[in-house]
Amino acid sequence: MAAGRGTGGRVHYIWPYQYGPRMITTGQKIAIQRTTKSRLPETDLDQIKFGRTFSDHMVVMDYRDGAWQAPTIVPFGDLRMSPATLVLHYSQTIFEGLKAYKGEGGQVNLFRPQANIARMNRSTHRMCMPHIPEDVFLEALVELVRLDKDWIPQGEEAAMYIRPFMFASDEYIGVRPSESYRFMIFTCPVRGYYKEAVRVKIETEYSRAFPGGTGTAKCGGNYAGALYPAKLGQDKGFHQLVWTDAKEHRFIEESGTMNIFFHLGDKLVTPALSGTILDGITRDSIIEMARAEGITVEERPITVAEIVAGLRNATLHEAFGTGTAATIAHIQTIALGEEVFDLPALTDSSHSVHLGRKLDEIRRGAVADTRGWLVNVA
Ligand SMILES: *Cc1c(COP(=O)(O)O)cnc(C)c1O
Repeated sequence: MAAGRGTGGRVHYIWPYQYGPRMITTGQKIAIQRTTKSRLPETDLDQIKFGRTFSDHMVVMDYRDGAWQAPTIVPFGDLRMSPATLVLHYSQTIFEGLKAYKGEGGQVNLFRPQANIARMNRSTHRMCMPHIPEDVFLEALVELVRLDKDWIPQGEEAAMYIRPFMFASDEYIGVRPSESYRFMIFTCPVRGYYKEAVRVKIETEYSRAFPGGTGTAKCGGNYAGALYPAKLGQDKGFHQLVWTDAKEHRFIEESGTMNIFFHLGDKLVTPALSGTILDGITRDSIIEMARAEGITVEERPITVAEIVAGLRNATLHEAFGTGTAATIAHIQTIALGEEVFDLPALTDSSHSVHLGRKLDEIRRGAVADTRGWLVNVA
């Protein structure tokens, strides 16, 4: 593990596993090793593909001997690791995804970073990993985004996608929780997802998550297991699967890697957080905004049967996925078995169009952020 050994002094974050974090020393500036050759001048921010362009710097923070070491910011670069590194064998790894937005006046805001930090720590708990001190995480995140703020593209749907992650770094292939970990953050400038009308298939054979499993943790393994069924769906012309409960395939859970909403009758409905669904921050934001506008939102178990009935009798007006990467993905087609249903065309007053626009305005600072969702960085 060669990258980013700290140059700064050591901050000792003693972490007694069962008692949560306790910070011994803090308030220290994060050591920054700047790149000597920015890649920005040779990067065309108008021609970026999602997840393939990386900004100049990254955060590195190691956990060893029962304590977090001081975080450092170093030039983005490769890692060196032993083939025996634990994560490569047993997938003890988690991640997060959030965005920073550049507003009209050039101000840079993070959207609800504390929610991502809290969720990442719920993932650490489920995956037997050490708790990350929230304030250190936020400080490192803010410093990184500030340092690479020139990488943030401006314009509709443009943003900086931020990827915090953490993995087991013991050089050991015994099955047990690692004793050392590496926490990192890097960032990618992004433009909007190509807004193709999304075709989905309700999955009734494979499962993403199951009761007692890891469905609520943002861990790598959930994604690995979903690739094969998703590929089968793609081979049949569907962009994503709608996951259903693992026991009976009777209840709707999520859509691909997004939470799912339906405008059914005069309500907005979304599956309740049952323990097998990822607790999306976009989901939470949409629910709160919809309620504030007087829209009735129900978080409850939703059966496949009622969605199909809604498609048949035209009481299902809209279906959409929510997640940080695409924000809102409008679903145009839903298939169940051999039956394929098309949803009505969207209008300007469709909930998904209207709420999506409003959320975008908040994130860009174009309307007042009355909920304290933004953290100003620069
Ligand atoms: C990350 C994720 C989401 C969306 O969460 P956001 O916080 O809205 O980005 C939904 N489902 C799964 C499985 C996810 O991993």
